[in-house]
Amino acid sequence: MPAPIAAAQPPRIDRAPAQFPEPGADERRLEQDLRHAVAQGQFVLHYQPRVSLASLRTVGAEALIRWPHRKRGMVPPGAFIHLAERNGLITPIGGWVLRTAGAEAASWPVPVGISVNVSARQLADGVLLEQVEAALASGLAPERLELELTESMLVDAGIETLMTLSAIRDLGVGLALDDFGTGYASLATLKRLPLTVMKLDRSLVQGLPHYREDAAITRALVEMGHALSLTLVAEGIATQAQRAFLTEIGCDEAQSFLFSRPLPPERFRARLAAEAG
Ligand code: C2E
Ligand code: MG
Ligand code: MG
Repeated sequence: MPAPIAAAQPPRIDRAPAQFPEPGADERRLEQDLRHAVAQGQFVLHYQPRVSLASLRTVGAEALIRWPHRKRGMVPPGAFIHLAERNGLITPIGGWVLRTAGAEAASWPVPVGISVNVSARQLADGVLLEQVEAALASGLAPERLELELTESMLVDAGIETLMTLSAIRDLGVGLALDDFGTGYASLATLKRLPLTVMKLDRSLVQGLPHYREDAAITRALVEMGHALSLTLVAEGIATQAQRAFLTEIGCDEAQSFLFSRPLPPERFRARLAAEAG
């Protein structure tokens, strides 16, 4: 006779075994370190080139934060941005990113665009307009600055969000919809917001050019984006066939490892100087 199922179950453990850190301990340490890093200004920005698909020249860059940690090495944003969004540290971090990227870009040898990711919390805290103005205080022309917003932060956008984004747009600063195609992809969002750029997520680009559905959707999005006067940027192009397809359907720009990984500030500056010379 088979043993009763209950007998096969492992013994119940009420507490985590002592040799493992209790749940959340690592996250608490990370949070302490993060507070310290904010106070000490320990972050760095890398810049990933955005290229024109027609000329393959660098037309801008996205600022991407990294955290050089004495024990953990170079911590990528995916490992701490969510935590910073939960505990509110993203607001001072986001302010630092805007000021630093603005000042850096103002001194580049070629006046290409600079794109900065912002988080919903910066908008909700009511500081985004101020932070953008602080970034422009470095002398950066507003037309060179662009904020990257995600669909999830815009889908429930209330009147205050719309007013803040319109005020930022009125300064001349661009507004990009990041990772388009991953979230709620509401066409109403596109209509209601003063956007200038749509970045097609790499999950859409991955299926190109062979998957008929992805090809049809991408073609339609490029056409729709252009009809709305948006600049279309493809993220995460991995192959020459994808590059050729996106160029053929009129996608304007690309940002992916195929063209360049995110670069430390001095290497991005050198790339601009080399292209200019
Ligand atoms: P994102 O804004 O969509 O940025 C693009 C991410 O895709 C970057 O990762 C970049 O390194 C990566 N990437 C670029 N080309 C390719 C490619 O060809 N293949 C693949 N597999 N990946 C590619 P990263 O730097 O790890 O940033 C991840 C995310 O963290 C960003 O996604 C953005 O949402 C967030 N993030 C980065 N910096 C900031 C920041 O300063 N503030 C906020 N709020 N979020 C940030
Ligand atoms: Mg982005
Ligand atoms: Mg993106």
